[in-house]
Amino acid sequence: MLANLNKFCSLKRDIAEINIDPLQRGGILTPQARAALVEWGDGYSVCDFCAGMLDHITNPPVEEFVHAALPEFLGTDEVRITHGAREGKFAAMHALCEKGDTVVVDGNAHYTTILAAERAGLKIEYALPSKPPHYALNADAYMQAIERAYEQKGNVSLAVLTYPDGNYGNLPPAREIAEVCHDYSVPLLLNGAYAVGRMPVNARELGADIIVGSGHKSMAASGPVGVLGASEEYARPMFRLSPTKKNKEVELLGCTVRGAPLLTMMASFSAVVERVAHWL
Ligand SMILES: *Cc1c(COP(=O)(O)O)cnc(C)c1O
Repeated sequence: MLANLNKFCSLKRDIAEINIDPLQRGGILTPQARAALVEWGDGYSVCDFCAGMLDHITNPPVEEFVHAALPEFLGTDEVRITHGAREGKFAAMHALCEKGDTVVVDGNAHYTTILAAERAGLKIEYALPSKPPHYALNADAYMQAIERAYEQKGNVSLAVLTYPDGNYGNLPPAREIAEVCHDYSVPLLLNGAYAVGRMPVNARELGADIIVGSGHKSMAASGPVGVLGASEEYARPMFRLSPTKKNKEVELLGCTVRGAPLLTMMASFSAVVERVAHWL
């Protein structure tokens, strides 16, 4: 048993294997991130520099990354680090919805959106995509889904849009969908697991109230790591402080990524900003 555990690690994966899966290319480390992985690989490496709040560590510059660079990059008022896109979606649902509420989700959603809703105790109403081969989504589909939920006396407290989805690569009209959701006072969460770090995506410009991204999928980081951004209005409940353990945010269980994956995402960030600028 131990022999196997001692055997799997070699440089082969790094040197001899080329990963051409387009879904995974966005997570390939930059040389800087690979160096950070080694330098920050020990257990709680980043915690040695913490005065009580992970996102306010100044050296290494986590605070600048989380409170300045990422909000500008994502187009949100606030950002926090998560363990991935799914944890961001769950945190948003758990903080913003009551058990038994309905979340409207596009029919092309990733399975993790469904599991996040199930874990948060929410009902799901699907915004239906058009017929094959397009599977396209539009604002009308969201309006109809919200109306159907209301007919069943549901309380719709969040809508989620996959942007783009992983099966068809559709880039739905987020702005129009956000407008329809806002007509019903429903906040929109944009799932940018594939978009954030690969192509320009700005939550504010798209009208999204909340956005999640995946570091290991699209931001040249070693997982598990992700980002969760929100406008002030939704950041307040999501990132609320514990009444008893001051400085600790309840929804994030105090601290999220406490080591190497965060540092790899930071180390890759300028290269990620640069590659996004080259998106056509
Ligand atoms: C990969 C993927 C996820 C999951 O991302 P994690 O960061 O691993 O949680 C969520 N949504 C979409 C659309 C994805 O493609």
